[in-house]
Amino acid sequence: MTAISVIVPLYNEQESLPELIRRLLEALDDRELTGVAGVGDGFEIIMVDDGSTDGSAALVREMIADRPEIRLVSFRRNFGKTAALSAGFRAASGQVIITIDADLQDDPGEFRALLEKLREGYDMVSGWKQERQDPLSKTLPSKLFNLTTRWFSGIPLHDFNCGLKAYRRELVASLDLRGEMHRYIPVLAQWNGYRVTEIPVRHHPRRFGKSKFGTTRFFTGLFDFLSVMFITRYLRSPMHFFGMAGLGSFMAGICISLWVTADKLMNHRPVSNRPILFLGILLIILGVQLFSTGLLGEMLSSRPSQSASYAIRETANLDEGIARQLEA
Ligand code: UDP
Ligand code: MG
Repeated sequence: MTAISVIVPLYNEQESLPELIRRLLEALDDRELTGVAGVGDGFEIIMVDDGSTDGSAALVREMIADRPEIRLVSFRRNFGKTAALSAGFRAASGQVIITIDADLQDDPGEFRALLEKLREGYDMVSGWKQERQDPLSKTLPSKLFNLTTRWFSGIPLHDFNCGLKAYRRELVASLDLRGEMHRYIPVLAQWNGYRVTEIPVRHHPRRFGKSKFGTTRFFTGLFDFLSVMFITRYLRSPMHFFGMAGLGSFMAGICISLWVTADKLMNHRPVSNRPILFLGILLIILGVQLFSTGLLGEMLSSRPSQSASYAIRETANLDEGIARQLEA
């Protein structure tokens, strides 16, 4: 049984790769470390190439030719960090799973601290880039993101989106990631009942290449935030949300219509020429629609979910069964 799986999502990180792999091996080539992880022994590193166009995949393939414990999964195109992580999760066989960015900003020297914290009984330990080495244009939006996520989720983490995290195997198996949801893994995990915590970790400036997340992340981030909120609060009971809103709207519409009718019957006020009638009709229709959306939601949520699959170009050193599963 493998003790530790390290997952590295990478997109055009060619220059960082040789040093990264050297430092990962240095950190992991330590019997004691796999002991800290608990059950199992040995480790594996899963490099997930997210459709790089700079030859990263070829470079990894070359570097790992005589290193069976380092594996490669390579996407046909860029599917995003969430997709890369989730393919890595599916390929991982370790009892403990560690994720780390490929750009040398995260420090493999922190593995031990993460695992020791996990051992205290947590299911997930997230890194906290307490002294973040990034330009203000990244750190400021990130502060705002963390503040809102902390506020809405009620989870007291400082750094939800740190690349460096350690998980227990069961937690990873419970995740169903879509969009750019990697930012909200701690929220999903805690919501599923797992124990989540954080420790401060060292962070380094980016030495090679450039950051892969531009301004679109504000929008995709917002939408993913909405879906996470929805998933965590209402997925298991869509009717609580849609049913309530639908009922409210329907009742308001009925009241307006009744009032207009009563006014006509008792005070002989004509129904035509009353704009509020339209509002009444609108609210009734809206109410019925929201209600049926809730019903549909209930039907959908009672079916087992299907996880997304990504087109894979090549794999290396990967167990054949796992490779087939990934491509299915
Ligand atoms: N990454 C990826 N797919 C993407 C974008 C990024 O696999 O579409 C990887 C990237 O190669 C790096 C990690 O995700 O290993 C974090 O990305 P980046 O360093 O650009 O983010 P930042 O540190 O600037 O937030
Ligand atoms: Mg980075």
